Parts: sequence; structure tokens; C-alpha cells
Amino acid sequence: MEAILEVSGVTKTFGGFTALSDVSLSVSAGERLGLIGPNGSGKTTLINCISGALLNDSGSIRFAGHEVSRRAAHERTRLGIARSFQIPRPFRTMSVLENLMVPLAYVGGVAGGRARDEAMSILDGMGLAAKAGVTSSQLSQVELRKMELARAMAASPKLLISDEAMAGLAGAEVDEVLKILFELNARGITIIMIEHIMQAVMSFSQRVVCLDAGRIICDGTPQAVVANPDVQRAYLGD
Ligand code: ADP
Ligand code: MG
Repeated sequence: MEAILEVSGVTKTFGGFTALSDVSLSVSAGERLGLIGPNGSGKTTLINCISGALLNDSGSIRFAGHEVSRRAAHERTRLGIARSFQIPRPFRTMSVLENLMVPLAYVGGVAGGRARDEAMSILDGMGLAAKAGVTSSQLSQVELRKMELARAMAASPKLLISDEAMAGLAGAEVDEVLKILFELNARGITIIMIEHIMQAVMSFSQRVVCLDAGRIICDGTPQAVVANPDVQRAYLGD
């Protein structure tokens, strides 16, 4: 399969601390990839480097045929990279609908009635249509997580990176978010899912990559990765 994303030899340091060390990762178009690893292993930093929130120190990041590692975040968004945030960042005083209309206008140049229709259609797909008119501060945790994904979808991405969208959710809510990610993937969107809930990672991912201390220690099928001794030691051990 054709690679939509190719990360090669990416290193990122903060002062003297190396958060990512020579990370290489290729993601196929349409793939469902799970990204796991202990807290502090560099998962969010990697996503920040891919999305443009941070600039990598060295290495290259190619997306859909473009070298993007020196491009601004908004340019990468326009090329089709979208991410949800580990800590949701809604516009709290705006309605759910307005939260989607901002990226629709900003990224797609869609405004007015058409933006409203598109926003409603995205919310409908997330089971959030009934909440379109409430302010985001009134949403439950799972609704907020869904709105984060909806906002990412408003940019019409080719690649969606979900950073712990299931954190803090109960069993049935985890399944709701999982179902949404499966549906988006079925529509052709490549998905990288960062998640600690192993059951969700195992059922969702076609391939799993495990980071530890800024390095990829395992890349393979979900079954191979959970059985890997290094992954057991670094992450799954206890
Ligand atoms: P994960 O998402 O796997 O939990 P992170 O990528 O958030 O890990 O963090 C990896 C390491 O980099 C951690 O030690 C964290 O403290 C450090 N780090 C992340 N972002 C910054 C930053 N902006 N400045 C300094 N250190 C950071
Ligand atoms: Mg993180």
C-alpha cells in the first residue's frame, strides 16, 4: 500500500532532554495504526511534530508527497493532517455548532449556510446533532471528546490523529468513540490512535507501534506487539 505519511529519523529535544530519538515510521493510506507507550515516552511530541505544533530538530516528515517538516501547522492542516488534543481545547463560550464553523471557515473557506449544513452533517455522524446549540462548556466528557473529533473532521482530513480521545471515559463511552473512529476509517481516512486502553487499541489497530523513552521499540501486528518482551517490560509489565 502507498504510504501517506513517512517519518524518517526524527529527533526532538527540549533543552538537553531528548524527547524523540531517530524515530522512523511509515503509515499507509487508509491504515488504522495504534500508537502506545508509557507516559512521557514521546507520543504527543511525535504528533506535535507531525501536525506542526512543534518543529523537529532533524529528520524528515513527508505527507501525501510533500516534505512538511518545515511547514506551518495551518499548511499541514490544509494538506490533510488533523489531530484531536489530549486535553480538549474547545471555544468554551461558543455553541457546539460554532466550534465546528470556525475550522470550516478557516480551513475550508466554507461559511454561512453551507458551513452550517456541513457542521450539522459532521455532528450527526458523531451522534451530537442534538447538542449543536448548547455551549461546549455544557457538554459531558464523552460529548466533549466527540466534539474534538468533529472539529478535527471539519478540516476534511486525509489523516486523523486521535490523542487519547478515550481517556477518562467509561466502557460504553469507549465503544462509542471507537465506533466513530471505525466509521471515519471506513470512509477512507487514515487514523493514528494514541490510546492507553489496550482493549480499544487491540480491536482498532491493524498495526501497533510502541514508543519508549523517545524511541520506537516495536512495530508490528497488535498480537506481536503485546507479546514482545521489550513492550512487556516497558509498558505492559504491571
Ligand atoms: P506522552 O505523550 O508519550 O506521554 P510527551 O510527548 O507528552 O509524552 O512527552 C515526552 C517527554 O517530553 C516528557 O518527558 C515531557 O515532559 C517532555 N516534553 C513534552 N513537551 C515538552 C515541552 N514543550 N517542553 C519540555 N519538555 C517537554
Ligand atoms: Mg501524550
